[in-house]
Amino acid sequence: MKFHCPNCNNKSDFLFKASDFNKGDLDKKFDYQRCPACHLIFLPEIPTNLADYYDDNYYEPYPPETFLKIAKKNLYQIQMIQKFVTSGRLLEIGPGKGIFAHVAKQAGFEVDVIEMSDLSCDYLSKVVGANVIQSDRPQDAIKILDKHDVIATWHNIEHLPDPWAFLDSAADNLAPGGILLIAAPNPDSFQFKVLGPKWTHLDPPRHLYLIPVEILIQRLKPLGLKCVMLTHNDRGGKYLNREGWQCYLMEKFSNRFSFDSNMPEWERKFWALFGFAFSLPLALWERTGSRGAAYTMILQKNKYPAKPARKSQ
Ligand SMILES: [Zn+2]
Repeated sequence: MKFHCPNCNNKSDFLFKASDFNKGDLDKKFDYQRCPACHLIFLPEIPTNLADYYDDNYYEPYPPETFLKIAKKNLYQIQMIQKFVTSGRLLEIGPGKGIFAHVAKQAGFEVDVIEMSDLSCDYLSKVVGANVIQSDRPQDAIKILDKHDVIATWHNIEHLPDPWAFLDSAADNLAPGGILLIAAPNPDSFQFKVLGPKWTHLDPPRHLYLIPVEILIQRLKPLGLKCVMLTHNDRGGKYLNREGWQCYLMEKFSNRFSFDSNMPEWERKFWALFGFAFSLPLALWERTGSRGAAYTMILQKNKYPAKPARKSQ
């Protein structure tokens, strides 16, 4: 069966079958397609029971001490944003365990979040103090919100069934000069080229799309947004490089899987250390060009609205 690319409408090619190996379920296979024109990777048939593939531990809050420790390490996330916007209203899509929302709030932003999980919404509202909108359709939820100076989506866009409508809504909601931050797994990465369907950051079937940076730039340009920052080597990107090898080696050489909650702590540490040692020499290669496992990009909206085209006489 031929599937058309949801980005550019070209006929796509079958890429591979992949299983939910991160959860240790190797029976069911999911077909991924690749568009030969724009290089989008996508899951053409999104499972109707997609929510069943998300466990509660995806959202289970961290113990307070761990939360604050991670928040401290993640200060880089808000510092990237502060180079362009230093205050105002910030909207995060898919805040999950709420680390970034907390960091943004501490930095003085007024924080709104759109999140689908009950557990996360409760925590974000009561503990983080964010203004919570519960929805699994951010593209619609944004439309009723006031303008934002920052919209951030950290590793969430690949989970959205309709990322294109989300980009349109986000671009429309941004105030002039406002920024959109997108961090996502990188389909141009060295790891994806080498590991393909076994790449932990493919995360089937939760990752519905792997979107090349160029598609985001091209789609957002006519909406008045310009890429002002792009990196594959922020702290999160380097962490995901490491994690990609750690998970792959653990799954290959043990009967464990990434989301295995029964794994003894010593065993988790062993595989983390083994993968870390393996990843060290590769880091020299992965940190060059656009080979990193993930990208983080910031796109800024025009400071002045575009002038309407002059009518011809
Ligand atoms: Zn395409």
